[in-house]
Amino acid sequence: MSHTGTNTLAIDGGKPAITTSLPSIKNASGRQIGREEIEEVTKVLESGTLSFLYGSRVKTFERMFAEKFNIEHAVAVSSGTAALHTAMVYLNPEPGDEVIMSPISDMGSVIPILLQLAVPVFVDIDPTLQNIDPALIEEKITDRTKAIIVTHIHGNPADMDPIMEIAKKHGIFVIEDCAQAHMATYKGRLVGTIGDMGCFSLQQSKHITTGEGGMVISRRNNQFGRDVRLCMDKGWQRSQHDRDHLFLAPAYHMTELQAAVGIAQISKYEMAIEKRREAGAMLNARLDEFDFVTRIPGRPDSLNTYFQYCFRIDPDRFSMDVGHIVEALNAEGLYSWQGYPGPIPLYLYPVVKDHLTFGTSGYPFTLDDRTKSHVYAPGLCPKAEKACQETIVLPWSEGMGKAEVDLIAHALEKVFNAYLT
Ligand SMILES: *Cc1c(COP(=O)(O)O)cnc(C)c1O
Repeated sequence: MSHTGTNTLAIDGGKPAITTSLPSIKNASGRQIGREEIEEVTKVLESGTLSFLYGSRVKTFERMFAEKFNIEHAVAVSSGTAALHTAMVYLNPEPGDEVIMSPISDMGSVIPILLQLAVPVFVDIDPTLQNIDPALIEEKITDRTKAIIVTHIHGNPADMDPIMEIAKKHGIFVIEDCAQAHMATYKGRLVGTIGDMGCFSLQQSKHITTGEGGMVISRRNNQFGRDVRLCMDKGWQRSQHDRDHLFLAPAYHMTELQAAVGIAQISKYEMAIEKRREAGAMLNARLDEFDFVTRIPGRPDSLNTYFQYCFRIDPDRFSMDVGHIVEALNAEGLYSWQGYPGPIPLYLYPVVKDHLTFGTSGYPFTLDDRTKSHVYAPGLCPKAEKACQETIVLPWSEGMGKAEVDLIAHALEKVFNAYLT
């Protein structure tokens, strides 16, 4: 191998394949924050009303979000994790109750379960789409199963019909985690409106953003004798004269400033999704040239809204492991990482595996013999573990176009060629 030619990898001292910086969700290069947001935020600042309690912006943003999703209830919260925790407070499980979920999601899907003293029960994935495999759910259901949190990962809807059928049969609540799949559709229906509740994140990396923020949507309210709004507002029935905190609940409010940004952002959904999809399709075509790459194909009956761009490589075809290939890609100027949420699935992170929860108690994992019987160790979900090892994740945004896809494909080709056996 020549060490002076343009084929020398940047990690070995060669010239990087990408010398400009690609659009990023971290700043204006990959985000559409402009005039509209500035005007909305300025109005709020001039009004002097920054709290949802006295202002109209949070209420308006909630109404616009509900209209967008054609659904009755929308409650704005402070993050996607807060949205999922609000759903768990609404559900009000007994300590030790079980919530089924995929091990391929953000830690923000697990934390709310633990904060409510329920335990996560991980069900392996369908390795093609990397979403929870409905065929493996039923064998994990017990008399303690209260809910399924369905994450629609990487912008691709999970297979909701069989999930809803199982949930109905066993009387289980379904929470859709739509943080990565805003406006994605499954058989013509928007995700978040199929289960009992839909939770969204509006954090900086998501399809639209308020910096930090989240939204809970639902068709029905008071299903468990609780109002969703009380579940994120200290259990406080503010319409009453006396202070009456009806039950234990956090305070997860969105501010008027965030809602002002959200109001401007919501009109950009279509544009953002169209751009992510267009660029995604272009990169799909480029990756199809490599027989050692397996793309995440999406479902023919669904609309994928491309959160991150993920694909798998066959590690047996390379002289270096996937971790090293990712390092080489980063050296070429292509920011990327191994696996989602990382090279290991959620249950192998210390909070779950080592029960690093409340003091030294290990609650809720150590509550009783049944909670203690859940083991979170390598081998629990082998398909998810393999996917985490073999997947390469590229951040995606509405700033991606043909020029960027060409650069990305060029960097991938250079690194693949160097390490192919
Ligand atoms: C981002 C994300 C969350 C958490 O949202 P935050 O706003 O970061 O708290 C939860 N689930 C999934 C799948 C996510 O991608």
